[in-house]
Amino acid sequence: MKEKGWKDIPIGGLILEAGNAERYLTGSWRTFRPVVNEEKCTDCLLCWIYCPDGSVIVEDGKRKGFHYDHCKGCGICADVCPFGAIEMVEESKYREGAGKVSSEKGGR
Ligand code: SF4
Ligand code: SF4
Repeated sequence: MKEKGWKDIPIGGLILEAGNAERYLTGSWRTFRPVVNEEKCTDCLLCWIYCPDGSVIVEDGKRKGFHYDHCKGCGICADVCPFGAIEMVEESKYREGAGKVSSEKGGR
């Protein structure tokens, strides 16, 4: 994709096209990553309802994981989960192996 110059960007950096966030990998600056303890999750889907980025994957009425390319790590999902099933783990520590839950479902 050709990078836009300053003359191509709308005044104020407004996003004029709805739904275009899907084309950008906006999860790259995430500091914390949501990690689910599957044993605690009841598939109530509150995390899916509240996630401002549409980053909770649901299939057939069940939570299946996260779109980590888009998840910003805001922690709202962890805050609203009534069962304490989501832990926010520092990305750097997660990459080192800490916070990984053995039964965690994969993300995309
Ligand atoms: S809010 Fe918690 S219990 Fe409900 S689907 Fe999400 S992780 Fe599972
Ligand atoms: S941390 Fe924020 S952006 Fe990521 S899945 Fe949870 S609510 Fe959505």
